[in-house]
Amino acid sequence: MTVSAPLASRPPTGRFAPSPSGPLHFGSLVAAAGSYLDARSRGGRWLLRIEDVDTPRTVEGAANGLIATLARLGFEWDGDIVWQSRRTAAYAAALERLKAAGHAFACACTRREMADSALTRDGSRRYPGTCRNGLPPGRSARAWRVRADGVVAFDDAVQGPQREDLAQDSGDYVVLRADGLFAYQLAVVVDDADAGVTHVVRGADLLDSTARQIHLQQLLGFPQPAYAHLPVATNAAGEKLSKQTLARAVDAHPPAGALVAALRFLGQAPPAGLDRAALTEVWSWALHHWRLAAVPRCRHAPAPDID
Ligand code: GLU
Repeated sequence: MTVSAPLASRPPTGRFAPSPSGPLHFGSLVAAAGSYLDARSRGGRWLLRIEDVDTPRTVEGAANGLIATLARLGFEWDGDIVWQSRRTAAYAAALERLKAAGHAFACACTRREMADSALTRDGSRRYPGTCRNGLPPGRSARAWRVRADGVVAFDDAVQGPQREDLAQDSGDYVVLRADGLFAYQLAVVVDDADAGVTHVVRGADLLDSTARQIHLQQLLGFPQPAYAHLPVATNAAGEKLSKQTLARAVDAHPPAGALVAALRFLGQAPPAGLDRAALTEVWSWALHHWRLAAVPRCRHAPAPDID
């Protein structure tokens, strides 16, 4: 078991961890800017990780597009970019530890066999527990799940106090998928721990994943980072901006204008005309005036018209 140092004694470290499924849109710019300003205003490091663990959802060329857009917007990351697709050995080692300690079990169930189960908070089916105490005779393992027991409570710096009864709200969750890929929940926890991430600042669409991630940190003996979940930008139909909802690429806008729009969305109060200033001036203003306490305490908000 790793002995974890208290949060305050570790160097502040934030990160931005986009999934390369399309170009950077306003919603991902908000998460990038929020995590960057939070880390830098603490005098901390800011890391960039490409979350290409889910290879079927990865779009060819999207990662390089995201990296180029971030550079064009003036983001400066520390150290090498981490690619999840190259970190399989670290995820496999974590799964072995979970298995050895009896926290993970093999599961033979198909999606169809779980179709009658209750829905969890994130809309997936709650695992009915069929394979919890061993595979049924004649069945073989498809996936690996972690036993979800107990209550996880944490204080989110934007969304306030959170509490989840794991068995009720998530159920036993997948860490190795039936298609052989490691699940996002495991990958993100291993990556954040290995990189020494102390402050996770990201979109509120991931708020309901956080209890499972804290649970995994506890099982693996990893330190728990501080969490801040930013409002997610939605389109006119109230849907989260994404490639699926045809969000416009940030590259379609002048960089200073897009950045100032992201600052306003995050409750900051940039002066009139800053959107026409040089990018370095925008960053300098943002770094000097960043206030996490000003970020609206809501899970989603409409994206502004940038042009
Ligand atoms: N890859 C996730 C996304 O693009 C973010 C994961 C995280 O920040 O923990 O939505």
